[in-house]
Amino acid sequence: MSVETIPSGAPSPPVAETAPLLRRESIPDQLWRDWRWQFRNRITSLDELARWIRVAPEEVRGVRATQAESRMAVTPYYASLMDADDPNCPIRMQAIPREAEVHDSTAPTDDPLAEEEHRFVPGIVHRYPDRALLLVNDTCAVYCRHCMRRRLTFTSEAEINRDDVDQGVEYIAHTPAIRDVLLTGGDALSLSDERLLELLERLRRIPHLEIIRLSTRAPVTLPMRVSPELAKEVRGFAPVYMVTHFNHPAEVTAEAAEACAHFIDHGVPVLNQSVLLRGVNTSARLIHLLCMDLIRQRILPYYLHQGDLVKGSEHFRTPLSVGVSIMEELRGRIGGFAIPRLVVDLPGGGGKVPFGPDYEVRREGSAIVFRNFQGREFTYVEPPHGDAAVPFEEVYLRKRGMG
Ligand SMILES: *Cc1c(COP(=O)(O)O)cnc(C)c1O
Ligand code: SF4
Repeated sequence: MSVETIPSGAPSPPVAETAPLLRRESIPDQLWRDWRWQFRNRITSLDELARWIRVAPEEVRGVRATQAESRMAVTPYYASLMDADDPNCPIRMQAIPREAEVHDSTAPTDDPLAEEEHRFVPGIVHRYPDRALLLVNDTCAVYCRHCMRRRLTFTSEAEINRDDVDQGVEYIAHTPAIRDVLLTGGDALSLSDERLLELLERLRRIPHLEIIRLSTRAPVTLPMRVSPELAKEVRGFAPVYMVTHFNHPAEVTAEAAEACAHFIDHGVPVLNQSVLLRGVNTSARLIHLLCMDLIRQRILPYYLHQGDLVKGSEHFRTPLSVGVSIMEELRGRIGGFAIPRLVVDLPGGGGKVPFGPDYEVRREGSAIVFRNFQGREFTYVEPPHGDAAVPFEEVYLRKRGMG
């Protein structure tokens, strides 16, 4: 929220006693661009972290406090985005554990959305009639510290195996109401190309399934995972949408933009879901910048999520009013299609509901007074009549075979 400035009289930082920190330029290009190299060389310990950044005491404590019960992994790519000196860096905050994760006493559960109740088979979360989640794995390139599905992703025990995915596909095939499936987990792009395409092929053979969404943070944390070839193959199963997860403008790099462009250029639209993270992106200026950066790359802001009540991520949660005032700031100052929908996923499995600023000021008979984004009041007058039936509706629906 605040811009930190270094006073001109401040002493220069001490000269490092150990080897200089790694930077993107330290790694040969050919390795850097190889996603398998990135994945194999993920940072999983304090020692490895210290090769990229000057690890702060709160991070040392955080890693030590959490290592027994949760995984940490950071791709060299994502680490290269970190500010080496400032532990408040948004990339560091999202990827490096803090002690608050284990000292969380207010959020009561690791499954606040009651997903387990809707897991009719292990690979499926089916809450809404027409759409379902297909959990394809429990693996991600980076384990986000705010992950709401940490009960799966942070441990290696909760594993989702091939049988579970197969059963999930069967479940969808036998449930004609499902027209929209979200491949998630975990991360859809943690599957190999071969496995992902094979899965898409099987899903496309289900006649009632119309929409496929790939939910992945790879463009943000492992952009080299996306090749033009993969994008082209995925396009073959259209309509497929990619849903990704940028939270901060610092994540919208040239590489990340390129990964998304491969999909978009081949006809796979890319949508973005952000989560409000206290002290990381809870600022109207930052969300404004993020949305501008996204639409410049043709990525559409879809949801802005209020944090879920997940045990272990309470320190990231903000009051509902913060999202409302961010939305207030966006409206009128940025194109309507660049504004995400602010939603809260209701605890207990109620699903997502939108909330936000109220623009209706008062009603005076048939006149409704609204305020605009500048706070000025304008009156809209209702028509003197009510609504009418749509006589052509029956005809049209019959033409579409829905009569
Ligand atoms: C979020 C979610 C979906 C998808 O919701 P949309 O509003 O269609 O993006 C589907 N199933 C579950 C369980 C979800 O949590
Ligand atoms: S990529 Fe998604 S599923 Fe994986 S850890 Fe991050 S938020 Fe959780």
